[in-house]
Amino acid sequence: FAKEKGRNNSQLFTKSMRIFMVERLHLQHELRKAIENIDNHFFLVYQPKIDVMANKVLGVEALLRWKHPETGLISPARFIPIAEEMGTINALSKWVMNEASRQLRSWNDKGIKMSICINVSPLLFQQADFVESTLYAIEEAGVEPSDVQLEITESVLTIYLDEAIDKLNLLKSNGLTIAIDDFGTGYSSLSVLRKMPIDRLKIDQSFIRDLQKDKEIVALIISMANKLGMHVTAEGVETMEQCKQLQDLHCSEMQGYFFSKPITAEEMEEYLKRPPISSSI
Ligand code: C2E
Ligand code: MG
Ligand code: MG
Ligand code: MG
Repeated sequence: FAKEKGRNNSQLFTKSMRIFMVERLHLQHELRKAIENIDNHFFLVYQPKIDVMANKVLGVEALLRWKHPETGLISPARFIPIAEEMGTINALSKWVMNEASRQLRSWNDKGIKMSICINVSPLLFQQADFVESTLYAIEEAGVEPSDVQLEITESVLTIYLDEAIDKLNLLKSNGLTIAIDDFGTGYSSLSVLRKMPIDRLKIDQSFIRDLQKDKEIVALIISMANKLGMHVTAEGVETMEQCKQLQDLHCSEMQGYFFSKPITAEEMEEYLKRPPISSSI
């Protein structure tokens, strides 16, 4: 009986694996097609980063969207890992870098002064020409390097330590700023953090979601960042309560649905016309 059951289980496993693989193959195929015509299939949305104390927008984070003709919007959480596997992440990332820089330039031309944050995949960061091509895109667009912040994840620091230090130093000497995204979910040690030319930690939204429970950890991250001379941004702030609690912890930089979901460039121009928090809290 046990043997019988075991075989049924493995058949079930094989079947769901097959569905999973077929789906992934399909997505790979669709992604390859879409990337041949990037401008028509992808666009960027922007989420404001707020300084709550000053009640103003400090900058925006560019977030990639794939608009599939049949399926509709596909989340980056779904297609970015696949693009990384396929290596097409590089073409996609180059497009993001150019598009985000161009958008910033267009805002600058309209008299809108702000910074832009761009997510960098570990695979892209690893590329030999990453620093060069990033600087080139910024130069081409004619924006201030100090208005561009790159978001990397802790995995970059743990896997390619020496290489990472060199690249980050080079980027920083050219005026860019560096943030660690999803901070607290990886394994970077204190000694690694101390060696890294990092400007900002973005506390992962999982800690903000359970802020009541994780208050001690969040307080610790904030005080550690302060001691290391880094700024802190809280991600995923959804409620007034979370916003207040973070302020009590002396964290004033926040991002999240409480202020705005990621929106298009045009919607952002409207958003910027008013202070982000309408009533005093
Ligand atoms: P991330 O960089 O940590 O971005 C934050 C994600 O949280 C975004 O999801 C954003 O829409 C979402 N978010 C913002 N505020 C809230 C909130 O209050 N509550 C909740 N529940 N979620 C919130 P999104 O746009 O789906 O992006 C997911 C991830 O995909 C990003 O995480 C980033 O790692 C990656 N990604 C997005 N765009 C790019 C890109 O251009 N290049 C690369 N390499 N990765 C990207
Ligand atoms: Mg990010
Ligand atoms: Mg994040
Ligand atoms: Mg993330």
